[in-house]
Amino acid sequence: MKALVTEFHALDITQLNRGWLHPNTTFDWVWRTNKGAQIATVKITVLESAVELWFPIESTRAIQPVSLIYSAGPQGGKRPWFACPQCERRVGILYHVPSRPFFCRRCCDLAYPSQYQARNRSYGRRFRGITQRERERLSVSRPPDCQ
Ligand SMILES: [Zn+2]
Repeated sequence: MKALVTEFHALDITQLNRGWLHPNTTFDWVWRTNKGAQIATVKITVLESAVELWFPIESTRAIQPVSLIYSAGPQGGKRPWFACPQCERRVGILYHVPSRPFFCRRCCDLAYPSQYQARNRSYGRRFRGITQRERERLSVSRPPDCQ
């Protein structure tokens, strides 16, 4: 069974683009349950054409740089996109589960709930821990504000 997008935390560029994408700023992005309880946090640093995602991984914190791509918007201006850190495709949403890097839906091997019945019944990969290859792509360090 494939995991569903609803099991993951989605980071949506259109939400970030509502006033958050100012270079040289850092803020916490928080996912909450419907009742408002905090379920996950990622610290985001905005750079000129990239964001850095800081999240806990095992007993330390990983920094995952994600490039931003800009396309021309319909009424002028520019529309930002993420470049998936794995496949480099232009995507609007990156997905993540705790202790895992952010990737696009395809790289996470996720299905939309509505896709589920229509798809074949192959037994896809479920998420396990972070792989060695993924670990090598991340710069893992301990920021000064994280004891
Ligand atoms: Zn991808």
